Amino acid sequence: MNATEILDRLVGFPSVVGTANDGIVAWIRDYAERCSAMVTVLPGPEGDRANLFITVGPNHVPGYILSGHMDVVPALEPTWTSDPFRLRANGDLLFGRGTSDMKGFLAAALAALPAIADMPLARPVHFAFSYDEEAGCQGVPHLIRRLPDLCAKPIGAIIGEPSGLRAVRAHKGKAAARVEICGRSGHSSRPDQGLNAIHAFACVLLAAVRTGEALQSSRLDPSFEPPYSSLQVGTVSGGQAVNIIPDCLTAEIEARAITGDAPVDLLEPVRLAALALEQQGFQTKWELQSSYPALSLAADAPLARLLEELTGAETLAAVSYGTEAGLYQAAGIDAIICGPGDIARAHRADEFIRVDELAACQAMIERLAETLRS
Ligand SMILES: [Zn+2]
Repeated sequence: MNATEILDRLVGFPSVVGTANDGIVAWIRDYAERCSAMVTVLPGPEGDRANLFITVGPNHVPGYILSGHMDVVPALEPTWTSDPFRLRANGDLLFGRGTSDMKGFLAAALAALPAIADMPLARPVHFAFSYDEEAGCQGVPHLIRRLPDLCAKPIGAIIGEPSGLRAVRAHKGKAAARVEICGRSGHSSRPDQGLNAIHAFACVLLAAVRTGEALQSSRLDPSFEPPYSSLQVGTVSGGQAVNIIPDCLTAEIEARAITGDAPVDLLEPVRLAALALEQQGFQTKWELQSSYPALSLAADAPLARLLEELTGAETLAAVSYGTEAGLYQAAGIDAIICGPGDIARAHRADEFIRVDELAACQAMIERLAETLRS
């Protein structure tokens, strides 16, 4: 099967983040096993979804990981021209949810698999395909934890997020939390008898705004845009009617961290402001929803040099989106981003990838395997 035919199959599985993924996992497992690769299905604690780990070559010596996520964001945009879960070709363009982010990379890697499996490899190539990346890299930590059982510690990981097939050495880290504040309802004419959760939230909001402002003038890293860590309140909901004292409010807060800032720590002033409301009789629930560290690979790291050879282009310093790369690096495995397509096409209607982009990625993966021949 060529990459386009594989992509057609992968797009057909509506593997939306936060849902079961047994269909796509089973299809990839069968395909890889037919190529005589070693396949391990790694079920997550959710019970209905799994990571996949595929190895070609000897697993007792260090090799390289090609990392991609099998989940996609929902396709609820009303402006899709055709069914987002059916690959539609128009000339050189292939439309469908996940074509760029990032089933295109999975398809290119799987299309390269038969050729790699035929090579006498001295070092292995692993495919690490995860779930629920789009929920803040929820799936891959379960896979990374199992790596010591699966293979010798890899030399490096290439994360195939869409980067125009240019290697990228850094991205920001991220943490997201949800806060729930509960007070006491009542008629708005008797505010003295209630506890207004929306009014109480003002302190929390102010802490978030001030934290975000302070970050703009603290540490700077010019490789990022913007060059500082940031924080925002993304959603707020609460209240039933203008004449009812609102007893509950929920909000979601997110921090994006430059290298050296721990994403969870950035949220701390906001968490403390929320917890302080308990002294006024409110009940506060703070829930960390996701967190992953920033990626920062040195320009002269061997993995960066290797990717320059494979792509024929200089590495780029940083991208603004987050990936699983930071988690691999935190586990002691050098990581870099390099994949086909353009992030600007992701998470929107009529997402697409070009046939020649798939071919270039497949060729890059085959060149990587060539360097591992015995
Ligand atoms: Zn992605």
